[in-house]
Amino acid sequence: MTFVKTSFHIEREDAPLEIRMMKDPVCGMKVDEKTAKLKSEHEGKTFYFCAASCKSTFDKDPHKYGHPN
Ligand SMILES: [Zn+2]
Repeated sequence: MTFVKTSFHIEREDAPLEIRMMKDPVCGMKVDEKTAKLKSEHEGKTFYFCAASCKSTFDKDPHKYGHPN
């Protein structure tokens, strides 16, 4: 029997060591979604921010940051 060891079995959110870093859409900084207190929802997506100023910038014009293209 040859099982190839991969890390695919720990990709779910119940993996304790995995920290999912979300990108602050305003300044581009990585934000830990578990500890982030600043977030906004836009069209069903949640955005996380490193600072209140980033959040207020986003809230003023969410389409600019929520839809980079
Ligand atoms: Zn920021």
